[in-house]
Amino acid sequence: MSLSVNNESIKIWESVLGKLELRIPRPSFNTWLKDSKGISYDSEFFLVSVPDAFTASYLEERMIGILENELSSSLNKEIKIKFVVEGQKIANSESHSEQLESYPKEQPKLSVKIPSGNKSGLNSRYTFNNFIVGESNELAYKGAKVVSEKIAVAFNPLLLYSGVGLGKTHLLHAIGNSAQKRGYNCFYTTCEEFTNKYISAIQNGSTETFRDFYRSVDILLLDDIQFLIGKEQTQEGFFHTFNALYMKNKQIVIASDRPISSLKTLEPRIVSRFSGGLVADIQVPKLETRIAILKSKSETVDYFIPDEVIEYIATNIKSNIRELEGSLNRILAWFQFKDEEIDLESVKNILKDPLSSAQNKLVSDIDVVSAVSKHFGVTQDQLCSKSRQKMTVLSRQVAMYLLREETNLSLAAIGKLLGGRDHSTVLHGHIKVSKLIKKDVQFKSILLSIKDSLSIEA
Ligand code: ADP
Ligand code: MG
Repeated sequence: MSLSVNNESIKIWESVLGKLELRIPRPSFNTWLKDSKGISYDSEFFLVSVPDAFTASYLEERMIGILENELSSSLNKEIKIKFVVEGQKIANSESHSEQLESYPKEQPKLSVKIPSGNKSGLNSRYTFNNFIVGESNELAYKGAKVVSEKIAVAFNPLLLYSGVGLGKTHLLHAIGNSAQKRGYNCFYTTCEEFTNKYISAIQNGSTETFRDFYRSVDILLLDDIQFLIGKEQTQEGFFHTFNALYMKNKQIVIASDRPISSLKTLEPRIVSRFSGGLVADIQVPKLETRIAILKSKSETVDYFIPDEVIEYIATNIKSNIRELEGSLNRILAWFQFKDEEIDLESVKNILKDPLSSAQNKLVSDIDVVSAVSKHFGVTQDQLCSKSRQKMTVLSRQVAMYLLREETNLSLAAIGKLLGGRDHSTVLHGHIKVSKLIKKDVQFKSILLSIKDSLSIEA
């Protein structure tokens, strides 16, 4: 296998990151792993690029165990990881082990240039085109679109707020990528990075250069502003830069993981500037949006992912799109190495652990009966009665189906719960509803939304 940046390795590593994201604290993940990329692998080694030598040595010393474990379990075989620094040339030899031995001790020989980030800090992966819009994020999306088209005219600053993993960073990059195409000078940075640079500018006596740099941009995209809370000195630097840009009619877009109320502890001058712009929040997406996001991601991979699998993931992971993607990646990695078609039963097994933590509430029989009764407008007494009225029968069968799918009750116990029916009646109800789900899309979506309401935390 020749050494080149290959798509398969990129995907494998992304899937490993998807899994790790669910396990490693977010700040650690973002600092050390977010920008790493899979490059290539052979039977012994997997090559991963990282932005700098410091990150490489940190990962090698502190995290190699967990990384190799996760990678080996994705690949289903033992494999070692080697890190290379982005932008560095590495040897192109027939076998990785040969060339890897020469890293980092010897200067590498031939050229495979590992792509490095660009100066704008923008990630071209995040665009408006691959951002799925639903009720939950419509305002933020529209606001972002407007500022990318008419900078500093409509809303300045634009402040995006949501819980973690709901698309703020994606939108910041999308604004930058779209405006950059129109010739604007855009710069994306996190407040943490901004702070570190500001502090070193103070130490080196180069604060003017620092400010000039920031003042030269047309759109400043500042991520994770919550980082500034409690850091007065940095807030000062931030305010001056912010103000200078604002006065020069430059667009500023800010993302925050915390509600605006908790940002009020920031310097009042900063907060009062915010009030001149637009605050757009992103809510947890509804089931249809989660399905649409997974579908759109699944179109970018070579695998066929059945609808029932997508629905299973979307129904079980509700509050974080990053987790949604992480689960999809986990499934893809697993099947990639099994070389089998993706099927729901295996998916349930693969996702068992992450789901059980995401879904820390077990569905009870009472939840099911009351959700069905509420949804169809049929009382619980009617569900348990002898009534053969059409809607009552259908609701009862839906209850049978859901009780069998979502709880541990036996057929006999379900029958008893629903007015003393026998197990074959319950089985018949289950089969009937299963068939209807396959045949009737509208019915299926009703069922999914009842299921969705079952596991929402109280
Ligand atoms: P945040 O910054 O709010 O924590 P991110 O922007 O990093 O969240 O989003 C987490 C992941 O979910 C990213 O990979 C992003 O592409 C994806 N994502 C979030 N919202 C959407 C959406 N509406 N459509 C498609 N992908 C999304
Ligand atoms: Mg973010």
